[in-house]
Amino acid sequence: MKSIDQAPLAGKKVLVRVDYNVPQNEQLQPTSVTRIKRTLETVNKITNDGGIAILMSHLGRPKGEANDTLSLKHILSAVCETLGKPVIFLGDVLDADIEDKINRLHPGDVALLENLRFHKEEEEGDLEFAKAIAKLGDIYVNDAFGTAHREHASTATIARLFPGKAYAGYLLYSEVQSLKKVLEEKKSPFTAIIGGAKVSTKLNILKNLMEKVDNLIIGGGMSYTFIAALGFTYGDSLFEEEMVPVAKEILEDAKRRGINLYLPVDYVCADKFANDANVLLTKDQNVPNGWEGMDAGPNTRNLFREVILGSKTILWNGPVGVFEFDTFDGGTKAVAEAVVEATKNGAYSLIGGGDTIAALGKFGLSKEVSYISTGGGAMLEYLEGIELPGIKALEEN
Ligand code: AMP
Repeated sequence: MKSIDQAPLAGKKVLVRVDYNVPQNEQLQPTSVTRIKRTLETVNKITNDGGIAILMSHLGRPKGEANDTLSLKHILSAVCETLGKPVIFLGDVLDADIEDKINRLHPGDVALLENLRFHKEEEEGDLEFAKAIAKLGDIYVNDAFGTAHREHASTATIARLFPGKAYAGYLLYSEVQSLKKVLEEKKSPFTAIIGGAKVSTKLNILKNLMEKVDNLIIGGGMSYTFIAALGFTYGDSLFEEEMVPVAKEILEDAKRRGINLYLPVDYVCADKFANDANVLLTKDQNVPNGWEGMDAGPNTRNLFREVILGSKTILWNGPVGVFEFDTFDGGTKAVAEAVVEATKNGAYSLIGGGDTIAALGKFGLSKEVSYISTGGGAMLEYLEGIELPGIKALEEN
């Protein structure tokens, strides 16, 4: 995969696939501009080198039809503000005058096309639609890691129409490099911390990680299914009965492979799912009847901390407790602090998943880890070992 650093940009019309699928309020204004901010380096590189940046994205799910509510013109002023320069709104990619508009742009200009998903051909990965986009530019840059798991016209099909001239933007490049650093070029001991609500949504990640990790920490709501598989009581905790055989398989597989698998050894429990619930600390791995496991207890925090501090590579996805409630955020905070300390001692730490990122933010530790992946679904699929079409198309270019 070639990075934008290798692209000759001067005087070129550069088609840049970005992911500006931002959350919006009722006035259609972005409530977070993180996704826009993360493309700043790529856009600056193009304009500083004398290229023309033609940005294209999707927004929401218009299902193949034009829909004013989901027009990118609503986020245009936020894009201008975040990128710190004027951005020309070009309108729809299939408009009759689109080529004229693009021909009037000058080196250093930044322009934005309308929501690509106004055409059903975008999500179909349609070749003719990709060709219609491709004829507007000289080279192609993909900086939309968050959409790299989709085989769409503007992410995968189009890259093949730019042989030798398709590049990864800085965001996409750094996301892929950080995931490779953890999964393929890792330094041992490699510890994965997997938490969150359900085993079922993390199952394929767990299976893929079994081939790579030295230590596997399983925490949060999903740990109670494993606890049950070991024969302990889980009270009113989150529990997926149909996942018990799978949990048993994972426990056996870990033993067979010599992986150290760590589960909580004590819990902070609640008598209702609320911040002001009554609290009970268990003495062991059993959750009493009428109580729900909400967070890792003190012995668990010490155990997890020791494992994390002994690691050279760390992957963390999923909180180990209901961190949204202050009463039950101590376990997740302890994990976050241990990851930060290990990073300071030289370990490489990759953190991903909306809730885990939010937890780090809550504790003011977002800047203290090696890399935060904002890739969402694309990151999860990468961790599952699935080849991402957007990345594959760039690698084969
Ligand atoms: P996920 O999206 O699967 O990563 O799950 C994240 C959610 O899991 C967060 O909102 C946490 O509050 C929740 N969670 C973590 N631990 C528990 C627990 N012990 N009981 C219920 N929910 C939990």
